[in-house]
Amino acid sequence: MAAFDYFKMNVHRAAALLGYSQETVDRLLTPDRVLKAPLSITMDDGSTQTFQAYRVQFSNARGPYKGGIRFHPDADEDEVSALAAMMAIKCAVVDIPFGGAKGGVAVDPKKLSLNELDAIARAYVQAFVEHLGPELDVPAPDVYTNSHIMGVMLEEYERITGTKAPAMITGKSLDMGGIVGRDTATSDGAIAVLDALLADQHRDITNLTVSIQGTGNAGARAATLLSDLGAKVVAMSDSKGALRNPEGIDVQKVLEKKDAGKSLNDTEFADEPFSHAQYDAEEIIGMSADILIPAALEEQIRLDNVESVKASIVLEIANGPITPEADESLAERRVVIVPDVLANAGGVTVSYFEWLQNRSGETWTKERVAERLEETMHDAYRDVADFALDRNCTLREAAYALALGRINDA
Ligand code: NAD
Repeated sequence: MAAFDYFKMNVHRAAALLGYSQETVDRLLTPDRVLKAPLSITMDDGSTQTFQAYRVQFSNARGPYKGGIRFHPDADEDEVSALAAMMAIKCAVVDIPFGGAKGGVAVDPKKLSLNELDAIARAYVQAFVEHLGPELDVPAPDVYTNSHIMGVMLEEYERITGTKAPAMITGKSLDMGGIVGRDTATSDGAIAVLDALLADQHRDITNLTVSIQGTGNAGARAATLLSDLGAKVVAMSDSKGALRNPEGIDVQKVLEKKDAGKSLNDTEFADEPFSHAQYDAEEIIGMSADILIPAALEEQIRLDNVESVKASIVLEIANGPITPEADESLAERRVVIVPDVLANAGGVTVSYFEWLQNRSGETWTKERVAERLEETMHDAYRDVADFALDRNCTLREAAYALALGRINDA
């Protein structure tokens, strides 16, 4: 997995900055626990099938382990371990009191009925129950799991332990103790970080242009927020195509069409009232804009297209969208990169608020969530930016070093 190689590289760089020994780095990169179990499920036709499940826990020095559970055919020990380690760093960057964890079940959810997926969710909890809990390890949704699956897992946990424990899992539906604003938290957090960075640079968002790669959950929300804030969104893309309009794209109208099932290569987007110029999807990277936001896939800015980047800021909402070589090239050109471990940590931050809410028995309002999220992301940006200034390093190096130091000192 390329992303884990980059991750390890970043950890090694940060460790060098901090003067850590190889022994310390090895310790910090070793999981506390790798849990594995075969889950045997009775299928709808009465047959039995077995699926391999994993939970990896990474450094609880700062608090309970925290991280999602994915249902995906490619889930394996290596991938789950890598993602668990990244969660530990992410939680430490935003300074929330959690360690890292990740879970996975090697299953193709598209081939199972809802009933069978619920059975997998229950079996997962049965297999790992002694290692889960509000003070031990707090899962959340990830690829192909959702608030419904979280609810099933919570019910199973409460049934087995005979306790009422909504704080044992986050990403629940509101009626089961979930928190308002979790679905938009990743992009809300990213835009809060951008806001702090622009204040540092004495730049006003209303004078800036933005291009956004990806119009999924994260990209669509980022586009909406930025246009609401008065930025000019001049380019957007999805997997099929890219749109450009130097006068500014009407984000809401484009997203309405997307919701109605149109892709951005549809000719409708070139006609009235849109009148966009249309391009191939990958061309978004080189389009003229002050701020480029990759919010789709990993490895989108590489040696072969890095020269085309015109933005002075890249906000990494996606995980690992820039390869290390491209990262270096952008840094040489003094392009400011807001690293994924900071930019997209708003999701886990609001999960933390959900955990707090459940433990205190309160229900947080939308306003309280928004206010605390903004405060947390602004503080995290300040810490990272000050470290970078102090050590004359990039924001990525600073974020990793700050997080590693916090984990090591805990
Ligand atoms: P999503 O599946 O909702 O959307 C992905 C988007 O990427 C879609 O619009 C798709 O059309 C687009 N896409 C796919 N291939 C593309 C290509 N070649 N060019 C341009 N666009 C392409 O996913 P999401 O939840 O929006 O997540 C996007 C990224 O953000 C991922 O890297 C994810 O890991 C990261 N992220 C998301 C969250 C979250 O809470 N949603 C949290 C942390 C990180």
